[in-house]
Parts: sequence; structure tokens; C-alpha cells
Amino acid sequence: MAQQLDTTGLRPDTLLVHGGTARSPFGETSEALFLTQGFVYDTMEAAEARFNGTDPGFIYSRFSNPTVAMFEQRMCLLEGAPAARATASGMAAVTAAMLGQVKSGDHVVAAKALFGSCRYIVEDLLPRFGVASTLVDGTDLAQWRAAVRPNTKSFFLESPTNPTLDVIDIAAVAAIAHEAGATLVVDNVFATPLLQSPLALGADCVVYSATKHIDGQGRCLGGVILASEAFITDKVHNLLRQTGPSISPFNAWVLLKGLETLPVRVERQGRSAEALADHIARLPGVKRVLYPFREDHPQVAIARKQMKGGGTLVAFEIEGGKAGAFRFANALQLVKISNNLGDAKSLITHPATTTHQRLTPEARAELGISDGMLRLSIGLEHPDDLADDLDRAARAL
Ligand SMILES: *Cc1c(COP(=O)(O)O)cnc(C)c1O
Repeated sequence: MAQQLDTTGLRPDTLLVHGGTARSPFGETSEALFLTQGFVYDTMEAAEARFNGTDPGFIYSRFSNPTVAMFEQRMCLLEGAPAARATASGMAAVTAAMLGQVKSGDHVVAAKALFGSCRYIVEDLLPRFGVASTLVDGTDLAQWRAAVRPNTKSFFLESPTNPTLDVIDIAAVAAIAHEAGATLVVDNVFATPLLQSPLALGADCVVYSATKHIDGQGRCLGGVILASEAFITDKVHNLLRQTGPSISPFNAWVLLKGLETLPVRVERQGRSAEALADHIARLPGVKRVLYPFREDHPQVAIARKQMKGGGTLVAFEIEGGKAGAFRFANALQLVKISNNLGDAKSLITHPATTTHQRLTPEARAELGISDGMLRLSIGLEHPDDLADDLDRAARAL
């Protein structure tokens, strides 16, 4: 592998094009795809050296692969993180980041506004193995403080939350966690690494579903865990290595190429989302719009303090409950009905009947997920075409 570029002082856009690239002796322009399970050694002595760590080369793609390593390295540079591990999906990343820190008898605290499967990990899976969990309203700092127990090991949150786009004060929650001797893990999917840097705000670990903006073109699943060397080595590495939720080198390659265009896409999608949030607020039949950088967002001050932009998602509430929301979404032609997000294609979903169907009506009400609420992920289409499509949907009401 050729010498890597000196990345000191380079800006994110540049890092995402060049960072982490390790060229083979062929000198390829694009990053090479090492679609291989294993590696061969010239001699038995060489194999021995790989296994005892005196030669740091690759051994087996369940836990290390050159293409996967390039993706991890590029993510480290973007996030400003010392270490990273890529995983098969966002959920594999969340599961390993949480499970790796706890044992039976421990306790975790999480914000209750979580991606459905993340809530399952905290609410159902951890308790089955003797790890108690407490769910709090993440925007209420007093609830985080009150939830702490002597055996609390970790706090977990996402901000902005899915689907209501609540914003949680990451620095304040990190301070409470550290005072309690616990870590803070942040699921940063909705903000993207470009608009929010949880590690700089005090978090100990950041997790992504790379399936979302990092791929950004709806092709493959992936996840990544970023933290200090110590966190990755002590809590995450062995769990991943021995249990094997490994990312395919092919998917890591797709995501690596996705990172090259991430800043361009997130900037354009964010600009469109901000404009369309205001457009939606003016449509007849729309009761309420939620967008982190709008002046009427309940946590706009925190959003502006910890984020560089409001993000690529907009949530809004239609009059007439489920029937109204369905009529609106069914009338859209350009915006597709799908529960994914961060895609080049604009996608709309009805959380109450899809992503958050598993929750009881009371739990949904507690999270502010009404029957009339829709979540819209803004894509790369021209914003005027999207505005026309939304106007058409409003006329159908
Ligand atoms: C999609 C998503 C996940 C899970 O990621 P997968 O890649 O689908 O496993 C976790 N958290 C958030 C906020 C997500 O949007």
C-alpha cells in the first residue's frame, strides 16, 4: 500500500475526496474494492507475525479489510475521531456500541424518542440480559439527572429525533453523564457528520446508519461506530471481531464513494428542506411544521447552537388525522412513499402506521407522533418541482 496523504488542515470536503485512500501498487485513481475473505502469507513465519501482531497486516475480512479500512479512516477524518469500526448496518453499530459497554447488573438511560429498533435494544433486549434501562424525555435535563443510578454505565440519544425532530442539548447531557461516571453515545444519523459533531460536544461515541445520507442513493446498508482508541479497543473491537456483524467490502466501497459527494448532497438537500419547510407551513390543511432551524421550533436555540444547518428532514401535521395524512401522501407523484431517509429521492412516511406502529397509542402520543403527522426526507430533485408536488397534495385534501 502506498503512503497516505498528509491530511492536516484539510477541510471536510477535501478529506471526503482524498482521506483514507490507500493505493495498491497499480496506482488506481478510484479506491480499490478488495472483495476478498482472507489474505495469503508468503511463509508460515509471516502468518505467525500477522497473528501475534508484530506485522499489522490484514488477516480476515470478518474484522479487517483494506476497503473497509479506507471507509473507516475517511469517517475518522470527517468526524475528528481517533478510531472507527464499520458494521453491516446502523443497527449492528448501535447494538455493539451499547452491548459492548455493559454487563448484567448495569443500567443505561436513553431518550425515549428513538429510532424504533434502537428503542427495542434499550427497552427490550438489554433488560433480557439483566441490564436495566430508563427512558426519559431527552429534552428535559432534570429527567436525565433523576434517572442516574449508582450502576448507570451509559446514556444514549439521537438528535434531531425521529420523527418529530426534537433537539436535545448534547453538551448538557454529556456533562450529566460524565458527572455520573457514565458515557454518552449519540446516534447522529439525522444531523449527519457535516452538520453536528457530537464528539466535539462531549459525547464519547457516535454511531451512524451509513444506509442513510452516507450512501445517499438507496443502494446498501452499513453502519459505523466512532470513538476514542480506548473505547473502540476496550468495548467494541472484540465484540465485533468475535460475533461478526461485518460489513461487506463491496458495501464499504459504495459508502466510501458516497462520502465523496456527501457535502454537496447534504448542503443541497438541507437548503431545499429549509425552504420547503416554510413552503409547507403556508399550505392549507397543514397544522404545524417541525424543522430544527425554523423560529417556531421548540428547541431552535439549541439547534442553532449545536448544528451548522437544520438538516434534510421536515415533519408536519395534516388536519384530519390519518385520513388527511394518507390523502396528502397518496396525492404526491414525485415524492415517493418509503420509510428510508437521506436518499437522493424525496421520501415520505407516516410514522404512526409504519416506523412507530409497534408503540402503543399512548407511547406515540407521549412522543408527539399524531395520526396526522408525516415525515418528509428531502432529496436532490429541484426544490420548485418538490414544491409543486406538495401543492398538488395540499389540493387533494
Ligand atoms: C436507519 C436508522 C438506524 C438503523 O440503521 P440501519 O442501517 O437501518 O440498520 C438507526 N438510527 C437511526 C436514527 C436511523 O435513522
